[in-house]
Formats: sequence, C-alpha cells, structure tokens
Amino acid sequence: MSDSLTLKDSSSDARCVIIGASHAGSQLAVNLRKNGWAGEIVLIGAEAELPYHRPPLSKTVMAGSKTLDNILLRPPAMYTSNAVTLRLATTVQRIVPDQKNIVLADGETLTYDKLALCTGARPIKLPLGDGLDGVCYLRSYADVETIRQHLQGRQRAVVIGAGYIGLEAAAVMTQLGLQVTVLERAERVLQRVTGEQVSQYFTDLHRSYGVEIICNAEVIGINGKHTVDSVSCADGSNYPADIVIVGIGVTPETGLAQDAGLRIENGIYVDEYCRTSDADIYAAGDCASYPDSRYQRRVRLESVQNANDQARIAAINICGGHEVYDVAPWFWSDQFDIKLQSTGLSDGFDESQLEGSLDPADPAGFVLQYFRDGRLIAADCVRRPKDFMALKGKI
Ligand code: NAP
Repeated sequence: MSDSLTLKDSSSDARCVIIGASHAGSQLAVNLRKNGWAGEIVLIGAEAELPYHRPPLSKTVMAGSKTLDNILLRPPAMYTSNAVTLRLATTVQRIVPDQKNIVLADGETLTYDKLALCTGARPIKLPLGDGLDGVCYLRSYADVETIRQHLQGRQRAVVIGAGYIGLEAAAVMTQLGLQVTVLERAERVLQRVTGEQVSQYFTDLHRSYGVEIICNAEVIGINGKHTVDSVSCADGSNYPADIVIVGIGVTPETGLAQDAGLRIENGIYVDEYCRTSDADIYAAGDCASYPDSRYQRRVRLESVQNANDQARIAAINICGGHEVYDVAPWFWSDQFDIKLQSTGLSDGFDESQLEGSLDPADPAGFVLQYFRDGRLIAADCVRRPKDFMALKGKI
C-alpha cells in the first residue's frame, strides 16, 4: 500500500473518504479544504442528523432548553461551500485496503485515495433490563429524544455509573424535579477521570441537591414487566425507578478497522501523525490511540478537544504535511451550577496542591494541581476559568 498522494495530486480527482460524521469527522472534512485538498471529500455518518455537538446532549438538550437546530456543529451551507459530500444515515460494512475501497451496507462500493476513520465509541451495555421500557443509554441525539419521552411525568430515576454521563444526567433530572439515585461500582464517583478530592467535591455537590449517591454498588438486576420499575444490588438493596439511565463507559468503534487488518491497541492504533498501520488510512477521535510524548505512553482520549485537534492534524498530514499531534488534553463538565474544567491526565500523580475551597457552597472555587516527579501533569479547576487557561499552557 503506497503513501504516494501529494498535495499536488489532490488537485486531480483524488477522493478522501471519512467514516464517522461527528466532531472528528466534520472537523477533518472542513480542514482538508483549508489545507488545500482539491479532490472529492465524502463524509459518511450512520446517524440521520447533520453533525452535532455531543456535550450538550447530557446537559441542555436533556433539560429541554436546546434542540438539534441549536447544537449543529456547522451550518448546512458550510458543507456545500466546502464541497463536502455528506452521506448521512449510511452504514459502512467493510473496508478493503488492498483495493482501496469501502463497501456500504446497501452493497455500493466507494473507492478512496485516502481514508479517515472517525468512528468514535459506543456505550457499554449492561446485560440487564434488555427490552424494558425506560432503560436508557445516552450517546446520540436520538437517545436523548427517547430519554425525554421517558421523563414525562416520571418521579424516580436511577442512574447506573457515576462518570460524566451519569452525574450530568443526575443533575439535569434533579433539576427537572425527579428523585435521583446514582449507583456507582467504584468506591468513588468520577474515579476514572479525577482524584479523590474532586470526587468528594462532586459527591457533596450532588448530595446538597438531594441526589442519593451510592458507591461500591454491584447492580445485579434491572427489573420490571414491560416497563422498568426497580434496580437491585448484590447487597439486597432495591431502588424503585420509573426511568434508568446507564452510563457505564464507552468502547471504541474498532470493528471496521479490525476486520480490515489494521493494528488495534486500545482503539485504532495511530502514530504521532494520526496514521494507522496502513499509510493511506488515518484515524482521529475517541476511536484512536496515539503515542503521547507528555505521558510517555499510548493514550486514547474520549473528549471533544482530542477529536477536534487530532482531526485537524490528520487533515494536514493527509494533505501531504508532516505535523505531530502534540496537544495538552482538556475536558469540562457542567453539573448543577458548577463547571469543572480539567487539563492533563492526573492518574499516577504523586503529589497534589490545592488552592481554594473544596466546599461546593464556597463561591471561591478551587484549583487542584497534580504533579508526578515534581512535574505538573494535570489540573482540575472550579470557578477559576483564568487559572484553567493559564494551566492549560503549562501541561
Ligand atoms: P465513564 O467516564 O467511563 O464512567 C463510567 C462509570 O461507570 C465509571 O465510574 C465506572 O466505574 C462505572 N461503572 C462501570 N460499570 C458499572 C456497573 N456495572 N455499575 C455501576 N457503575 C459502573 O463513562 P460515561 O460517564 O458513561 O461517559 C461516556 C463517555 O462520554 C466518556 O467518554 C465520557 O468522557 C464522555 N462524556 C464526557 C463528558 C464531558 O466531558 N463533560 C460528558 C458526558 C460524556 P469503573 O471505573 O469501576 O468501571
């Protein structure tokens, strides 16, 4: 397989196909044009909607204050003016790298000169409560429409998983007037993404609004006849529920890449140039794991920042550039009136430094910096946007 396409060649009838039309795919398409790709660009997405922002789904969309029109990533005219062919509600069945083509679910074959995989991630499913009305997952706009239907007139919600999805959904449902219980398997909330002090801060925040937070919970049953009515745990406890939202993490969408023989390593393996083990195929976003020089290990990030920045670099390199993906990660989460802003990856820190207050009622907020071997590796900030901006540049 050759890596022979140069920027000059792209002025011909070269075609770049992008699989996945969310943050990474949409960004990549527009950035191909910015970087001089003159050939065809085909952006394929499985969902029917135009590419949209995902973060508001578990916040303002779930709360009912925003709809699809308010959260589109780009106006429809942007795809036309950049001559991006959008193929929505379209599923790719397989990639045939030797023939440089992809096969769609309806049998149509599309050839490519360069291919970009922005396939994202899908929610991990619990093998419980299957088919019961009111058991919901939250990843897509359609998921939130379903959740909103189930919220009508309901009083008791159980959330399984206290990651960003679980806690943001718990906050919204509490504000909508439901009584919410959160069941987390780990010993503290947000364990995957932050340290103990910030976990305690968000536990206190939620409890101050009346959310019941239960950690070390082993869910063994999601019960009901046709509609869910309760969730049971291994310790014998049982929680009445009119709606259950499951947010227990995601798994990268690697199926197409794996079947095509691409290297997989906690996601689709890419090098520092966002290139997979096939030189004509790139990957970006939640689905891709890359070598991170900051942390001296391969990393796979599930964040909007990573999707956007990685796609931007992939587009440059598809157009013949040679740019390394080297950006400090950052994240945010909105829960009740609090915005958590985080930069870097704190796991493995050996020292932390707090400035401010870990009392959610204290308007001063805080900055918590994490160090390893004396080097700043991450920071969590609440009510400190200026500190956050400054620290982002230091990671
Ligand atoms: P997540 O951050 O991985 O959190 C899932 C949580 O569920 C973990 O604490 C996990 O604990 C727990 N869990 C796993 N299995 C469980 C079980 N059987 N019972 C109870 N708890 C269980 O994933 P998420 O919250 O579902 O979010 C999905 C994706 O959306 C992530 O990529 C996330 O970053 C993204 N997202 C981001 C934002 C944001 O940046 N603000 C907002 C929403 C979503 P263990 O560690 O023990 O497995």
